[in-house]
Amino acid sequence: MPSSAAVKPGTAVLDHQLLELVSSLVCILREGRVAFINQAGSRMLGLSGVDVALGTPFVDYVEADYRFLVEAGWDLLAEEDFLPLKLHRTDGTLFEAEIRVRVVPSPEETFLLEARDISKFVRSAEALREREERLQGVLASVAEGIITVNEQGLIETANPAIDRMFGYPPGKLVRQHLGVLMAESLRDHHQEMFRQYLDGSHQRLMGRAVESLGRRADGTMFPIEISVSELRHGKSRLFTGILRDISERKENEERIKRLAHHDNLTGLPNRNLLNDRINHALARVRRHGGRMAVLYVDLDKFKPINDTLGHEAGDVVLREVASRLSVCIRGSDTVSRVGGDEFVVVVEEIARPAEAAMVARKIIDALAKSILYMGNECRVGASIGIAIFPDDGASMEDVCKAADVAMYRVKHSGRNGFCFYSEHAADIEADYVGLAPCDPVDISS
Ligand code: GH3
Ligand code: MG
Repeated sequence: MPSSAAVKPGTAVLDHQLLELVSSLVCILREGRVAFINQAGSRMLGLSGVDVALGTPFVDYVEADYRFLVEAGWDLLAEEDFLPLKLHRTDGTLFEAEIRVRVVPSPEETFLLEARDISKFVRSAEALREREERLQGVLASVAEGIITVNEQGLIETANPAIDRMFGYPPGKLVRQHLGVLMAESLRDHHQEMFRQYLDGSHQRLMGRAVESLGRRADGTMFPIEISVSELRHGKSRLFTGILRDISERKENEERIKRLAHHDNLTGLPNRNLLNDRINHALARVRRHGGRMAVLYVDLDKFKPINDTLGHEAGDVVLREVASRLSVCIRGSDTVSRVGGDEFVVVVEEIARPAEAAMVARKIIDALAKSILYMGNECRVGASIGIAIFPDDGASMEDVCKAADVAMYRVKHSGRNGFCFYSEHAADIEADYVGLAPCDPVDISS
């Protein structure tokens, strides 16, 4: 083992053997020059031996940008705790060091200097900072809102998407209770779920996306999807919530649902929704008794409007017919468009077939007024077949078929009237056939 540099008699009060046991650089400076350096220090500076350093000003090993610290005086540095700076190796390479300087009681100006190579720490701290910056960059750029919440339900972090989504200025949500982001009506429910989760009785919740209602800073509500996961940080638990604004998705779902259940041209329920409504109505009648009526309406002489004025005129007439039919029924009844100029009306809860006849009459009256399209009077009538449940059929199909059959009877017997499927109700019909047209209504604008 090479021997350490000798110290001039009287300058050192330290046991140099002990200093060789230290893994960091230990150096005694007298008048700023190296009077002793241990083996570890010699290796750290890349010296060929400890003797090489003896007598050299230590400032030579300090990188130029940091020399001002040393030039301010070693005694000033001795007042500081560990100081970070950069040191040179003899091959010119630099390394990050942390030094600590202490005064050695001595007649001459003597200091004990320790230095640790902290390059690895600095590199990992830099890597950590870079990772943190990248993470922050990702958090700032994602469209999803990401929050972390502590066990008390207080928001610890919220990314910019959360602020944008809920309309808060940056940083405003931190330390606020998670409840501020929830619709008031759901706050207790969420709090209870959170409490149950903390108790361990609601583990299933984690990682699953659930839909809820968010509350913006201005008090408006919007649909959100939340998925929560748990982060354990030592003994404490932290919850990460990923929140998405699903307003657009909900609107699309509604639109698709509407398209699937409604007629595009008139906005009336289509056959799918009609079947659904009839089945529900039948179930109600079966449960509670009573009757319901299905009216099959086919417009009379509609095709000539298309043929003479064009398809667009026909569409306008169909839309107007739809809106007139809609005002002929009660809120609990249904008008649907099931084909070109075919409509079905479901009249629920009728006590007698005559009530269905009254609706049919209202329809014929409503359509009697001609429709003006671009200055042209368009006239349509309605042939209406009526079937009654349970009298005329035991299922939706049977009742609809019966109403259709009755409608064709009207077509064959001169149009613009109504007809019951059942013979026994036929006496009601006679009064209502052949209604006079009324004044035209202009719907061309
Ligand atoms: P009828 O008195 O015997 O019922 O005859 P009609 O002239 O009313 O004609 P019909 O019921 O036989 O045919 C309905 C026509 O409606 C056939 C088709 O060209 C037309 N049509 C079907 N769908 C639409 C639509 O969406 N828009 C328009 N403008 N016309 C349609
Ligand atoms: Mg027709």
